[in-house]
Amino acid sequence: MLVLKFGGTSVGSPSRILELEKLVQSDEPRIVVLSAMSGTTNALVEICNALYVKDIAKARYLITVLRNRYEQVITELFHTANGLKNGKELVESHFTYLEGFTNDLFTANEEKAILAQGELISTTLFHFSLEEKNIRSILLPALHFMKLDANEEPDMAFISSQLASTLNQYPGEQLFITQGYICRNAFGEIDNLKRGGSDYTASIIGAAVNSREVQIWTDIDGMHNNDPRVVGKTHPVHELSFDEAAELAYFGAKILHPTCVLPAQKKNIPVRLKNTLAPRAPGTLIANLKTAEGVKAVAAKDGIIAITIKSGRMLLAYGFLRAVFEIFERYKTPIDMITTSEVAVSLTIDNATQLNAIVAELKEIAQVEVEGNQTIISVVGQLPKHTSGYASKVFDALKEIPLRMVSYGGSQNNISLLVGSEYKTRALQALNKGIFNYD
Ligand code: ASP
Ligand code: MG
Repeated sequence: MLVLKFGGTSVGSPSRILELEKLVQSDEPRIVVLSAMSGTTNALVEICNALYVKDIAKARYLITVLRNRYEQVITELFHTANGLKNGKELVESHFTYLEGFTNDLFTANEEKAILAQGELISTTLFHFSLEEKNIRSILLPALHFMKLDANEEPDMAFISSQLASTLNQYPGEQLFITQGYICRNAFGEIDNLKRGGSDYTASIIGAAVNSREVQIWTDIDGMHNNDPRVVGKTHPVHELSFDEAAELAYFGAKILHPTCVLPAQKKNIPVRLKNTLAPRAPGTLIANLKTAEGVKAVAAKDGIIAITIKSGRMLLAYGFLRAVFEIFERYKTPIDMITTSEVAVSLTIDNATQLNAIVAELKEIAQVEVEGNQTIISVVGQLPKHTSGYASKVFDALKEIPLRMVSYGGSQNNISLLVGSEYKTRALQALNKGIFNYD
């Protein structure tokens, strides 16, 4: 069994849906996980926002705009009387349902029911469109098997057994379609895996059915060695170990949902990033691999805040770092990078919502300095601790750039550097030249 996930742009128009129909056909049984058509979830969020503030006229208007878009899709996508009838009925039923919320009390539960409509529509449209061409497919309702437990983690035991018994009802079938993103919570209510969660759905399903591979299809050629928006030349990275991918996920969240790989990784199932616009390209394989030694990719993350905490009390003392970390823990603020000297510790955060409160508490035990507008540059690959030369190569490439913090040795997969954001472009370009030999 294979699991293939296609994002919103892959089902974003009738022509893209037709292309997808070709891509998903094969002799190997497969479960196709779909997002909502692009723009739909954003539109549904806007509708919910209007309903929260009781701006019913605006909500109705937004629903009508979205409905018109789907009606247009139906007329372009279907060509037989039966296909058109199916499509129209589908749009009618989902939009009547949406319009119903404009008369009702509106709470978080209604919001989640609304947000689920995008994936429910896209998957059914795809199923009907295949049916119109006499291509068999089975629609698996995610709300029947995709379930979270009381800790809001996927209930893998339930999901596996439920999916296994459902799939058993369809011996010999090749093509299954299901919704990404949507699920039920521990109370059985409609819920979701948070924005961008369809990748996560695919990984969970892959783990549940023990698939041969999980493929995440987007419009990019997998993961690249550097940011193509910043440097002239880049290449796709063909192979990454799960550990390397985890280091990059913090930066590459745009292509891969950070938590997405975990369920697959736990079951040792390879995850492959593929490009719908270049289906034959190998993409990026993320697996339990011993990848080649060396640097695979560099990545940057902006919007970082550096906090330096200095105290004479740290000298030869224990317990100081615990006191510092406890403050961040109390304010539920993750720390990303850390460096220490004997009397000071510098660390970074990317979420400033609790910054003032954190700094106030830190000031009770130390001198504190805060610097915003920083960028983490991360060099990721297989960098074995007994091999020399990687750090010097990185430093040599960056010799013209002031380095605010350096973190090396936390894992054998990463060298992280903090620079002022004004140096980001130069740093990425310098690394592209110094490490990958691109001008
Ligand atoms: N449709 C959802 C979103 O836009 C989930 C996804 O596409 O992954 O966030
Ligand atoms: Mg996505």
